[in-house]
Amino acid sequence: PLRKKMSVEEYVEGVKKGDRMILAKAITLIESNAPKDFDKAQRVLQALLPRTGHSLRIGITGVPGAGKSTFIEAFGQLLCQQGYKVAVLAVDPTSSITGGSILGDKTRMQKLSREPNCFIRPSPSGGTLGGVARKSRETMMLCEAAGCDVILVETVGVGQSETTVRSMVDFFMLVVLTGAGDDLQGIKKGIMELADAIVVNKADGDNLERAKVTQGEYERMVEFIRPATEGWKTHAYRCSALQKTGLLELWAVMREFEKVTKKSGAFENRRQRQIIAWVKTMIDEHLHNLFYEDPVIKGRLPEVRAAVLAGVVSPSQAVAELIRTFDLDRAAA
Ligand code: GDP
Repeated sequence: PLRKKMSVEEYVEGVKKGDRMILAKAITLIESNAPKDFDKAQRVLQALLPRTGHSLRIGITGVPGAGKSTFIEAFGQLLCQQGYKVAVLAVDPTSSITGGSILGDKTRMQKLSREPNCFIRPSPSGGTLGGVARKSRETMMLCEAAGCDVILVETVGVGQSETTVRSMVDFFMLVVLTGAGDDLQGIKKGIMELADAIVVNKADGDNLERAKVTQGEYERMVEFIRPATEGWKTHAYRCSALQKTGLLELWAVMREFEKVTKKSGAFENRRQRQIIAWVKTMIDEHLHNLFYEDPVIKGRLPEVRAAVLAGVVSPSQAVAELIRTFDLDRAAA
């Protein structure tokens, strides 16, 4: 039978060997929303846990059109040429709405997808940003267990996804465009504060001079913002993803970042904070769901709301009363 169910051991062994087909299947298992798959997926992850964590995790953000996927294609190829194993992932919370995803369109990274040492996976779809984030983190762990040295995580430059990707990577890079004088103010200061590097892309042809000016403008701006990483100065750089210039220099910056932050302890500190925050987020979400999906709470909510609106009970009293009604054992059963 072609569709024979794989055992936990088969997943684990396949991923360890770096078998791309089995890696892809293991990720599908991680992404499944079926409770029985969840159990199995967690056993696979548990067995692979000692092999995770050794990669350099790089987040890449920027407005649509900035050149993120062109950059990743060129940069990923360069890393493969240097002998690294690379994984390219995407976090796109809107993929559940559109049904597709930014990396779903294979034509966008044709050359890179043919690299034997590169593994490309589109954004998981379905569910909340929290759900997408959990799946992406666990996918990242599977890729590490399969031997990937560098993980590139692309984010759509909208909404909350930047903060989410920042919380799962070591190095975060913002891709920007030239000649965006007005845009400079448009880029939220908050996003710049997340970045370890600001990269002015499309620094080629007629655009090169403008790119230099833009680089200078960003360089002055980062003087006034809080650095994203303790002990690391965020700078503005230039590159052309199309002409493949400035890419090696950027890789050198990333390696330097890794060296400096590992020496100071900032690297490991961030990893630890990320794991703790991840655990907390999952507890929050779990309790939230148990509470709102509990039939007794569901049944009580409408009258409690009505009572609060009618001014019969205060909001605080209503909450206290609901929490008293809530039975964790019953909800979790
Ligand atoms: P994304 O939406 O950020 O992923 O952007 P894309 O990678 O799809 O690039 C948007 C457009 O910009 C495409 O037409 C690319 O060919 C073009 N582009 C990307 N990088 C460069 C570059 O370095 N130089 C030039 N001239 N064009 C580029």
